[in-house]
Amino acid sequence: MTSITQPAPASRRLPQLGLLAYVALAGVMVFYAATHAFDGYITNILMQAATYSVAVMGLTVVLGLCGQINLAQAAFFGLGAYAVGLGTVDYGLSYWVCALLGLALVLAAGAFLGASTLRLGGHYLAMVTISFQQIVTLVMTNWIPVTHGPDGVSRIARPGLFQSSQSYLAFCVAVLAVVGYIVWRLPASPLGRAMRAVRDNELAASVAGIDVQRTKVTAFAICALLGGLGGALFAGGFAYVSPDQFSFAESIVFLTMVLLGGVASPIGAVVGTGLLILIPEWLRFLKSVPGLYLAIYGLAVILIVLFMPDGIWGWMSNFTRRFHRAAPARGEAAALELRQSAGHDADVLRIEGLAKHFGGLKAVDGIDFAVRRGSVHALIGPNGSGKTTTLNVLSGIYTPTAGRIVLDGTDITGLPPHRRTIAGLGRTFQNIRLFRSMTAVENVVIGAEHPGNPVEKAHHALETRARAALAFVGLGDRGDELVTSFSYGHQRLIEIARALAGNPTLLLLDEPAAGLNSTEKVELTGLLKRIAAKGLTILIIDHDMTLVSDVAEHITVLNFGRRIADGDPVSVLNNPDVVTAYLGSEPDAAH
Ligand code: ADP
Ligand code: MG
Repeated sequence: MTSITQPAPASRRLPQLGLLAYVALAGVMVFYAATHAFDGYITNILMQAATYSVAVMGLTVVLGLCGQINLAQAAFFGLGAYAVGLGTVDYGLSYWVCALLGLALVLAAGAFLGASTLRLGGHYLAMVTISFQQIVTLVMTNWIPVTHGPDGVSRIARPGLFQSSQSYLAFCVAVLAVVGYIVWRLPASPLGRAMRAVRDNELAASVAGIDVQRTKVTAFAICALLGGLGGALFAGGFAYVSPDQFSFAESIVFLTMVLLGGVASPIGAVVGTGLLILIPEWLRFLKSVPGLYLAIYGLAVILIVLFMPDGIWGWMSNFTRRFHRAAPARGEAAALELRQSAGHDADVLRIEGLAKHFGGLKAVDGIDFAVRRGSVHALIGPNGSGKTTTLNVLSGIYTPTAGRIVLDGTDITGLPPHRRTIAGLGRTFQNIRLFRSMTAVENVVIGAEHPGNPVEKAHHALETRARAALAFVGLGDRGDELVTSFSYGHQRLIEIARALAGNPTLLLLDEPAAGLNSTEKVELTGLLKRIAAKGLTILIIDHDMTLVSDVAEHITVLNFGRRIADGDPVSVLNNPDVVTAYLGSEPDAAH
């Protein structure tokens, strides 16, 4: 749709350079590990750091990117390790076959655990992962015929290619480098953006067209997979595994590692892992005084977390960011193109007998109305009359108690929010819901990315579209700023731009003028008229009668969840019922 050919911006060439630098650095490290003769003690520390780091990067994904907790990473690590241990020792399978089986096992376990519990969120998820961790430990300890019980599994084989400690270490470093690269690049991919959106604001993510549950399960499964991979490497590295290496306490250690280093980057995972392995080694001389070692170790961790809430790497990158200012936007933004609404039905939206009851409260109580294609339709009514609830039922945040919603000829009544967005709904929220850790452009790119949007999905094309949408709402030169640096009114405009970028058939706006000053209201009125001029159908809720009568061609009025008037502005605003509902008095008093 937006087929503007522009030279590749500098930000697109940079990853290529970054990749080259990364490959060179990783190559040097692998070469060094493979050729330098460390003593056994150092080799063990490096082996532990490399294998743990892989597992900790799983937490970078699930916690750092997606905002979900996993207190069972040691269990996934242990499953990977036991798969290699038992497979090679008891069943004589090759290391590679065992590692693959282990990965399949943790992926299935992670996906199952995630799918069954991520809907719960918050502390339920924490509790379920703790239970899973305990079950895995119990099975490892007590299912003696299969797992060897507390004795563990010894003499675990390494792959033929990497028999020596040195070559195996080099192999682990190579795997870590690959995993690190993937985790490093993930945030800029569609999946990574979806995860960040879910972390920042689940509701806004779903309304932007993201399948929140699937995104969370994917993040969780990736985390489990990396846990299992780390464990499989660990088993080969140390040739011995036992249940106590994979206990709940170890899950906490993994979590501390990622928090200590910083959840935002795989570098943080490596820094945190390295440090948490090294601190005990540095404090070894204190071991003669009982208790002192643990106290100092604990204190060190607490101090770091206290003074560097974003972890060590987060602290360092915040520090360097101060010297890096966002470059001003380059050149003219392209014009925003919006899909022409071309269904056969004269009505874009039809609502039939829609009701939403909260227990005894009939917030919406059987309303009907239709929104004509290409019109601006206002939904008004006193506070608490059910306007926002109607919008929430329309966008799938609530399931209706009764009724039917037909969008462009398709019944969308039973669809989840993201599917409705894909089907052509776009919306903004009464209380602004932006992805607060992201820039304006990133917010709008997420709005443009859903599969129902018929535009090119290459990142540079989405970014061009996002800049065009921001320019359309009047914020073209500020796209690279964090959304938190915008005024309230401008955050509203970013939300509108995010919805527009998704090419909706119908745009739902919930009180866009609330909280705006009079100048901003005038600007908003102008924007709404420009959107309408592009042929987009709008359903707007607002209290500001000047705004409503200025832009709307049709008004529906709600009171106590019921429709009390529906028609053109003049007749509706002079309707005695409406005047009474608004002023709580007789029509005569209103004039
Ligand atoms: P409006 O947007 O027209 O001001 P709302 O749709 O937000 O009104 O609310 C309509 C009624 O439904 C209010 O009485 C409100 O308290 C109630 N309500 C809204 N959401 C919920 C909810 N999630 N649970 C219970 N009651 C709700
Ligand atoms: Mg409301």
